[in-house]
Amino acid sequence: MKQQLIDPFGRSVEYIRLSVTDRCDLRCFYCLPGDYRDFSEPEEWLSFDEIERVIHAFTVLGVRRVRVTGGEPLVRKNLSALVTQLSDIPGIEDLSLSTNAVALSRQAAALKTAGISRINVSLDSLRADRFKEITRGNLDKVIDGLMAAKQAGFKPIKINMVLMKDVNDDEVEDMIEFCIEHGFTLRLIETMPVGDTGRSATSRYLSLQNVKKRLAERYELIPGVMPGGGPARYLQVAGTDLRIGFITPISQHFCETCNRVRLAVDGTLYLCLGQEHKFEFRPLLRAGISDSDLIDAARSAIALKPERHEFLEKPQQVVRFMAKTGG
Ligand code: SAM
Repeated sequence: MKQQLIDPFGRSVEYIRLSVTDRCDLRCFYCLPGDYRDFSEPEEWLSFDEIERVIHAFTVLGVRRVRVTGGEPLVRKNLSALVTQLSDIPGIEDLSLSTNAVALSRQAAALKTAGISRINVSLDSLRADRFKEITRGNLDKVIDGLMAAKQAGFKPIKINMVLMKDVNDDEVEDMIEFCIEHGFTLRLIETMPVGDTGRSATSRYLSLQNVKKRLAERYELIPGVMPGGGPARYLQVAGTDLRIGFITPISQHFCETCNRVRLAVDGTLYLCLGQEHKFEFRPLLRAGISDSDLIDAARSAIALKPERHEFLEKPQQVVRFMAKTGG
């Protein structure tokens, strides 16, 4: 019989977001401060073998999906070797990647061969000057990366667009057309008050409920389904293959169905994006914990999972940046 990892609120945890680095080659203004230097040091990073052990412990308990993320996961050296190690762990049914795609054109084929099947690419603007203002990066590289991902055969490819008032809310329709043209799925995301940068972007917050109404005036939107098990609620644009996911942590939170935890590069397991509840695996690994004790540790970590985030009630609460937690 399949094991299930049940948290104190009766939710089955079957999904780990694995941050392989807290560094990033972009500086999105709502995510990582431009002058940020307080990154973890290499000796604090879990090695590939340590990561494999922790993920293995969770799969024994019922975790089935792993998403590799960061920071920017593609800046971790030899990422495809780690992906190969992860895809060899029995019990993993779904191995996916979240990336900004800046370095994807060189790595897409190797990652596909190593075992990544699905890929999410963050892209907030299709206008080079605006993209630079938001991220400090070069849009051409991202587009090259996306085309390489398409060529490599990832399916689906989802575009994650954080939608912000007076920043890029006038671009949703362009992004819709771009996704229809290339067969991508679009996911719109509300800004969250994580870290000082995330809080500073709350003035740009836009409820996706209003955006949905605006799109419904222009497009015929019908209920859509999408494999993935994540928090997005999907609508399909009638007459096309395009599905648009709405990720609404603020206007309509989805904590009651939360099925995930986040393992940071330093071995800290964060039980909720919007709370500080955590469990440290690195000291246990470096003290030589056995595999069976590691499984017990994973079970006790899940017992710490809180009921829900409190972004609205306590917006000052989360001090760490998204890049640290593994967004
Ligand atoms: N670098 C990878 C990427 O770009 O997808 C993975 C990590 S990144 C932190 C994951 C996602 O978190 C990105 O789509 C980013 O836009 C989003 N994000 C970061 N800070 C956020 C915030 N304050 N509110 C909402 N989304 C945020």
